[in-house]
Amino acid sequence: MNIVMLGRPGSGKGTQATRLMERLGVPQLSTGDMLRKAAADKTPLGLAAKKLMDQGQLVPDEMVIGIVDDAFRTPETAKGFILDGFPRTLKQAEALDAILAAKKRALDKVLFLDVPAELIVERLSGRRSCPKDGSVYHLVNAPPKRDTLCDKCGTPLVQRDDDKPERITARLDAYDRDTAPLRPYYEKRGVLAVVHGVGPADGIFAELLLRLGIKD
Ligand code: AMP
Repeated sequence: MNIVMLGRPGSGKGTQATRLMERLGVPQLSTGDMLRKAAADKTPLGLAAKKLMDQGQLVPDEMVIGIVDDAFRTPETAKGFILDGFPRTLKQAEALDAILAAKKRALDKVLFLDVPAELIVERLSGRRSCPKDGSVYHLVNAPPKRDTLCDKCGTPLVQRDDDKPERITARLDAYDRDTAPLRPYYEKRGVLAVVHGVGPADGIFAELLLRLGIKD
């Protein structure tokens, strides 16, 4: 299964991609996670990317295409992948086509999680994540069991800098400007499946499986 998850920031792509990864046994390739790791490791690419990420701006295409290209060289991606947060521009979509074509592969499905922009601010501002294992929570919709500690490892949860309210608008603007054109791009090819991304995560996951032709 070669899958791309599309949708606004905060539409639940990461959460659902993780569930799909566990269900399908193929890796989740999250460019946001890769860039945050590079920033935490203080690599030159990571430090350059962090400045833009903290402002809610997209990282330049060449940078992010490079890290995706590297990820596709790992053997784990041979049996499939779930791309989460990539592509985010038409140039990235074309680069992905070229990477896959070189391997004589193609996308099976592009899953678009449809969440209205009005709901995004509330979703992103309540999001908290574990800096140690990457688990994601929401203060209201999916709160941790104890205070603001990770259920799995007890580490205090943090708010991503780019989830602060003043950054969210910039991210939504970047989405409208650069990423929204990908929906018609994949629709024309007949690989797009639009799933309503509001409501309990279990129901959304069931709908995604249905669209992939997988029995729940
Ligand atoms: P995410 O975790 O997917 O919300 O990504 C967090 C931030 O990382 C974004 O706001 C961008 O600054 C950067 N980023 C992640 N993926 C990409 C991409 N495909 N192209 C450009 N920037 C990206």
